[in-house]
Amino acid sequence: MLELTDVRAGYGGVTVLRDLSLWVPRGSVVALLGPNGAGKTTTLRVASGLLRPSGGRITVDGRPFPRGADAVSRAGICHVPEGRGVFPSLTVRENLLVQARGRNVGDAIEKATAAFPRLGQRLSQLAGTMSGGEQQMLALAKSYVSSPAYVLLDEVSMGLAPKVVDEIFEFLRRLASEGVALLLVEQYVTRALEIADYVFLLNHGRVAFRGEPGELDSSAIFAEYMGVG
Ligand code: ATP
Repeated sequence: MLELTDVRAGYGGVTVLRDLSLWVPRGSVVALLGPNGAGKTTTLRVASGLLRPSGGRITVDGRPFPRGADAVSRAGICHVPEGRGVFPSLTVRENLLVQARGRNVGDAIEKATAAFPRLGQRLSQLAGTMSGGEQQMLALAKSYVSSPAYVLLDEVSMGLAPKVVDEIFEFLRRLASEGVALLLVEQYVTRALEIADYVFLLNHGRVAFRGEPGELDSSAIFAEYMGVG
């Protein structure tokens, strides 16, 4: 379980997350919802070690949160940030190799191209010359080849064509079916709720609702905070 307890975090003197408690059990899909500015991205940054909290504690599988990017990766945590996260001047193959570090390279490429066949036809192409959708697929494939236990996804379907969004959600289902836990920030709320086991809804850096998707659907909070009924 990836567990945040009473976490406080922000930028400079500004507090964004206030006593936030949230958990992602191994193998489960957790949707993190909330209006603009609620603190969703900040939560993912804290949970992936990019931003140090000023209070509270974070544990991974019962151990204190690791220090440093390599240790975070070894603990099985992988963050797919908003805006892709691929190396544009490396080829698709090189991007995957960098991520596969020390693992069997052939397996990594096979795994990535099985998930996204389109990448298989573009292994020698520079990542920066691919379409936005293809770059996002590569970013997701990179997370996959690192064999993570927890993947934190920040609006990975942002600005993509509906068909690509379908492919991405299919991939997320695949990850989930393989037992990878997901913490999902997603503008397509309905789609996120379809695959989620559990939901946290943030407002002003606090948890305004937590429960199962079915409970949220019928909750007045959903309509109030999300502008959807
Ligand atoms: P959105 O849905 O709009 O992406 P969010 O729920 O992901 O929003 P965050 O990006 O976590 O929200 O932002 C929460 C608050 O923190 C906002 O008020 C934002 O302006 C502020 N904030 C985010 N990043 C920084 C930063 N680097 N420096 C200062 N303030 C920041």
